[in-house]
Amino acid sequence: MGFSNLQFGVADTDFCRVLAISSELPIVDWQLIRFGVISEEEARRRLLETVSPLDGRAVPLASALDFFAAQDYFARLPLPVFDNSAMDGYAVVASSCRKGARLRVIGEQPAGPDRKLRITRGEAVRIFTGAPLPQGADAIVMQEDVTRGGREISVNVDVGAGDFVRRRGCDLAKGQMILATGERIRAATVALLASQGFAEVTVGGETTAAVISTGDELVKAGEELEAGQIYDSNSTLLSALLRQCGVSATVVEHCRDDRQSLGHAIKRGIKNHVLIISGGVSVGKHDLVKEMLGELGAEIEIWRVAVKPGKPFLFGNIGECFVFGLPGNPVSAFVTFLQFARPAILRMMGAANLDLPQVPAKLAGDLTNDSDRPHYIRGKVEHGKFTPVGRQESHALFGLSQANALLRVAVGQSLKSDEIVDVQIWD
Ligand code: AMP
Ligand code: MG
Repeated sequence: MGFSNLQFGVADTDFCRVLAISSELPIVDWQLIRFGVISEEEARRRLLETVSPLDGRAVPLASALDFFAAQDYFARLPLPVFDNSAMDGYAVVASSCRKGARLRVIGEQPAGPDRKLRITRGEAVRIFTGAPLPQGADAIVMQEDVTRGGREISVNVDVGAGDFVRRRGCDLAKGQMILATGERIRAATVALLASQGFAEVTVGGETTAAVISTGDELVKAGEELEAGQIYDSNSTLLSALLRQCGVSATVVEHCRDDRQSLGHAIKRGIKNHVLIISGGVSVGKHDLVKEMLGELGAEIEIWRVAVKPGKPFLFGNIGECFVFGLPGNPVSAFVTFLQFARPAILRMMGAANLDLPQVPAKLAGDLTNDSDRPHYIRGKVEHGKFTPVGRQESHALFGLSQANALLRVAVGQSLKSDEIVDVQIWD
């Protein structure tokens, strides 16, 4: 054992053993006492209590995609805005329009300015999709259902009142809520806002982020790899995950495991709302992140969460900047980003729903979690079935790349094949 009772100033060997077991480390120091491993729920609670939505801003509709509404929006106009034709054809009075009826065509109304035409029984107006309904008309007969001869048509079908007429307000009433605060703005949302004449929309504050990947072993893609080196994949991973949250990283840099370069990189990174640091947050001799953050005045709120993979996760702040320290193993970085960084960032951006989408799926095989932490199993959901993929180890990036869902298995939980489970999906 690499610790003694003297280090704690206590004589209780059980106490030491509990600490050693809960930290799973042979060496226990004061840091580990101060920062007990906390549950995911506790971590999320602390994160979401600490961060708050940034001030909103108005953006043109075209740039609003995937941001979150910072206020409620209500319909200024009914939809459709006026009664109009759903077809190319003829506007008619239905009661004078039995099969075989002959009608006189008295004018034409294309989509566009209302020509204020008026018809009575026995008359028709040539009309096109989206054109305003002439006064007196209560139905449209499709052009395919008439035979035209000069200024007359004969109708080949029975026509009922309301046929192919789109009534004002049948889709949306004026004053109805069209977008709620915190809702994500999707393609159809910007279309709806545009249909209401909104040229811009107030969305949650722009969140800026920096990414630092730490590690002496890391080499940038495109460079030559030497023995013992690996390519840095987390920078790309984390930038991509940020992008999926609607944030583009302003700085993405690699830094070596030395205090000076780490210190400089952190100082640059904290000019943003969010700083994501990959690697160097565990308890190894070369894991300097927590120490350097401390030296730079960080308040560390969380260090180590009972989650597998991703236990060394760290969260704190330096001034206004929130710092997320993610373990360097790619799957750990991925899982902790989605479980902890993502909801915090979305909250800053004004999102109401901070959870990943969940879908029910039938489990493809038996699964038991006999570890001491909830385990996020990577797998693929296809046709309602969840199948774990790849090695369930924190370095196994290939399996992760084939997966599209995470299944959380609680400590001691045993799941049986064909059981219906809820899985989180990310794409
Ligand atoms: P660390 O969290 O720094 O102890 O790193 C844990 C593991 O993740 C080690 O095997 C590292 O080589 C690997 N790792 C750390 N950073 C990266 C990165 N940016 N890209 C790929 N692997 C990494
Ligand atoms: Mg490292």
